[in-house]
Amino acid sequence: MPVRVAVNGFGTIGKRVADAVSKQPDMQLVGVAKTRPSFEAQLAVERGYPLYVGGEGRVEDFRAAGLAVAGTTDEMFQKADVVVDATPDKVGRQHLGKYDAAKLRAIFQGGEAPDVAEVSFNALANYDAAVGKRRVRVVSCNTTGIVRAVSVLRRQYGVDRWDATLIRRAADPTEVHKGPVNAILPTFRFPSHHAPDAQTIFPDLPISTTAVVVPTTLMHLHVNHVKLHRPPASVAEVVAAFRESPRFQVFRSTDHVEGTPQVLEFARDHGAARGDMMKNVLWEDGVHLSGTELFFFQAIHQESIVVPENIDAIRAMTGLAPNANASIAVTDLALGLRP
Ligand code: NAD
Repeated sequence: MPVRVAVNGFGTIGKRVADAVSKQPDMQLVGVAKTRPSFEAQLAVERGYPLYVGGEGRVEDFRAAGLAVAGTTDEMFQKADVVVDATPDKVGRQHLGKYDAAKLRAIFQGGEAPDVAEVSFNALANYDAAVGKRRVRVVSCNTTGIVRAVSVLRRQYGVDRWDATLIRRAADPTEVHKGPVNAILPTFRFPSHHAPDAQTIFPDLPISTTAVVVPTTLMHLHVNHVKLHRPPASVAEVVAAFRESPRFQVFRSTDHVEGTPQVLEFARDHGAARGDMMKNVLWEDGVHLSGTELFFFQAIHQESIVVPENIDAIRAMTGLAPNANASIAVTDLALGLRP
């Protein structure tokens, strides 16, 4: 029996998660919810996803816009085993009562405070912690990128200290009212919220992060300085450790990928839906080693990196896969992240 999944909130993250669920062999998408008619609501109908009306939305507004709706979210929740809440920051928490009343397992996103769930989650880092849980929070895009990389380096070398500067995209491409357009904005909070968020997954990780917002929509870029516990033999060995892990893309010098625009062109060239890049992106030339001190850049595609993690969270909570490797293997094959 496939696990029945509802997606509440069909925006940047929700529409990607809905598509990903519909591609999994062991899951069934029972519906998606929006609050008002839009081109995205139309997309749901075109894809054959049952469309429900959530929040303060009104069924008659959808019908007036020519959109066939299956009902309200209360009806959608009755049909599901798990709900993925992809509503805007802090809105997800308002749905806790409804999810509990419908006896739903619920997945929240990084815009919610950690205490919305029993555990914060990343598949490479702490899959087992989510096994059997009723409420799980998939950490934000930047934190997902950080904890994936921590997972690889910690396992192989141990991590004594992690410092990262996050150069953050100002807005998603669809966010027409956000900026800055012509400024570099330092975040006056030390550490930035990303370090404590990473510690929701690795409580004993000595990490500090700072953040700067820049006028781009394409991706975030992390500048990492890591003090490893054991010295790697070479940069090549570190690069191999990342390459051998799921969900990492490491470009070679000869690829001539100079920055984030070409990363996303690479994704488009390879037919990725929406031009998404769900892997952490590193460059061989962007890794430097000095004894136990490791420096590396990584780029993070904010709109899509958490999508495979939502899928693995569903498997962990419902027992569809016995461990992280088993779940990641199914997810990544279905999403075209591995051959
Ligand atoms: P979004 O604004 O693009 O989409 C949210 C969707 O939810 C919209 O379609 C909106 O109409 C709908 N919605 C609003 N209230 C609702 C309600 N009460 N019931 C049902 N639907 C409702 O937001 P997003 O960028 O997809 O972010 C969703 C969550 O994912 C947030 O917690 C955010 O922090 C997190 N996240 C976002 C990104 C990103 O870069 N966009 C990356 C990682 C995590």
